[in-house]
Amino acid sequence: MAKIIDGKKISQEIKDELKKEAAALREQGKEASLAVIQVGSDPASSIYVNNKKKACAYVGIRSVSYELPSETTQEELLGIVRELNDREDIQGILVQLPLPAQIDEDAVIRAISPQKDVDGFHPESVGRMCIGEKGFLSCTPAGIIQLLKRSGVELEGKDCVVIGRSNIVGKPMALLLLRENATVTVAHSRTRNLKEICRRADVLVVAVGKPRLITREYVKEGAVVIDVGIHRDAENKMCGDVDFADVEPVAGAITPVPGGVGPMTIAMLMNNCLEAIRSKHE
Ligand code: NAP
Repeated sequence: MAKIIDGKKISQEIKDELKKEAAALREQGKEASLAVIQVGSDPASSIYVNNKKKACAYVGIRSVSYELPSETTQEELLGIVRELNDREDIQGILVQLPLPAQIDEDAVIRAISPQKDVDGFHPESVGRMCIGEKGFLSCTPAGIIQLLKRSGVELEGKDCVVIGRSNIVGKPMALLLLRENATVTVAHSRTRNLKEICRRADVLVVAVGKPRLITREYVKEGAVVIDVGIHRDAENKMCGDVDFADVEPVAGAITPVPGGVGPMTIAMLMNNCLEAIRSKHE
């Protein structure tokens, strides 16, 4: 039986630590604040945005909401981002993705000041992470590193396989594992012998976006399995990229969906909001 890595519990511990820190910073006159911009009313995005606002309220971070109509133009959105970049009372800016088709997401990400880029998607943040400089880390991969560390998983020298090479999960995940001195392999849709490669992994991080793709044939006995995927199956039940029921008996440790990686992403966003004022006042 695998150890279940409880992301809900670990994310709560982190939020409690951040709550104390936010209170201490406030006593020194330093208030963390986050501007959250949503364009349109995609129901999934609305849930994510609400969860982020709730987490801000819990930790003690002031959140300011911008709910823009779906026909908002790129220029209008860029205008709001530029205004927020200049505002002294706003420390973090988050534009909820995806954006409607008329808006170029990359242009918006690049327009956010790197000093306020709490999602860690700006090319400057990505570059800093790549060369090991201080900066905002992409929240989901940073959350996975915290999950592993706080669950006592040693990474140094371990064989880690990341399935997926997206800019927001797979690539930054591989870089952060490398920073922890793991030996990292990145697999993707053109990878040959995927099963064989995965079966070498001491730690397998799955971010493929395909429900229950990864079964026990991909997993070495005793491996740590981190499931990044979020889906709803035919019965409207939440599931991940890993077939939990099939893999759990052979894994050493595994994250569930829900309650694994998901809550960690928001906890790390809260950490980045505090990082914006920590680094500003250094
Ligand atoms: P994505 O942009 O669609 O990337 C998927 C990656 O998986 C791509 O690199 C793709 O390869 C690779 N891939 C697809 N099918 C494959 C296959 N059969 N074998 C091997 N590799 C395959 O997805 P993403 O944004 O990284 O997200 C991945 C999953 O995580 C999604 O379910 C998403 O909803 C979830 N997610 C969760 C959180 C969270 O907070 N828990 C955050 C972000 C994302 P190519 O590059 O070759 O196409």
